[in-house]
Amino acid sequence: MKRQYRWIAIVIMGVLAGAVLAGCAVQGTNGATATVGRETHEQLNCVLWVQTSPEYELACRESYKLATLMLDEALYGLQWTALHEGQASGTLPPAVILDVDETVLDNSPLEARLVLKNREYNKEMWDKWVAEAAARDIPGAKEFIQHAIEEGVEIFFVTNRGHHNEDHTVRNLRDRFGPMITGETVLTKDEQPDWTSDKSTRRAYVGSTHRVLLLIGDDFNDFAYLGEVSPEERVIAARKFLDYWGEKWILLPNPMYGHWEQALYDYDRALGDAMKLNSKYSHLDTKP
Ligand SMILES: [Mg+2]
Repeated sequence: MKRQYRWIAIVIMGVLAGAVLAGCAVQGTNGATATVGRETHEQLNCVLWVQTSPEYELACRESYKLATLMLDEALYGLQWTALHEGQASGTLPPAVILDVDETVLDNSPLEARLVLKNREYNKEMWDKWVAEAAARDIPGAKEFIQHAIEEGVEIFFVTNRGHHNEDHTVRNLRDRFGPMITGETVLTKDEQPDWTSDKSTRRAYVGSTHRVLLLIGDDFNDFAYLGEVSPEERVIAARKFLDYWGEKWILLPNPMYGHWEQALYDYDRALGDAMKLNSKYSHLDTKP
């Protein structure tokens, strides 16, 4: 190739590569656009797994199928309790406690919006999303709740959505699961002075009037309170409850967020984005 043509080719390739690196506009289903190059949002894969893969849907359905089997067994075990803090007499009416987000309601559309806008979780977008009260139900949740109600089991929701979000949350839950859901059975954070993000007091509240057969959630905090401990300590703590998981405690998959993710940057939510990412990278394990 003659020298002048080689330079022209290099310039054209440089322009094309620059266009790729600078990114191109893409559009999500909500009409929002984002610019992507190789540097994508770290949530991209997990949101797409939740939104497009049969594997996610089937993992949820498996969890609720297991929950249904265990519920039927638990109903006949009068000393059966899912509260590891201790509880309860078989004479109390049966109940199950479910978390809300990523347990019965799917917030992945908000996560998709964050990816497209290249944003982190923020309260403003969260409250706006909750006020839409349009979250879809998690696969399998509706069938499980219907079955539990047919068996005479009371359904309680213990959620760390704030009390200011309760009306929207109840409306969303009623639309998806039925009119029996009221503010009385949706126990939000700060609804009472001792109802903090540690759900233990709300579990005890339900346990004071009901025999709690199952806990269903997507975060360790939905089952037992650990505090802000390291990822390694979370794993060790989880293994102490092997008798509960899959029998009295039913776990839903949530790759998008949770205490597992906050533990990676020591729960320092005020930390800048770059520092959080650095901290996450430091947890990657390359040793076989
Ligand atoms: Mg949740």
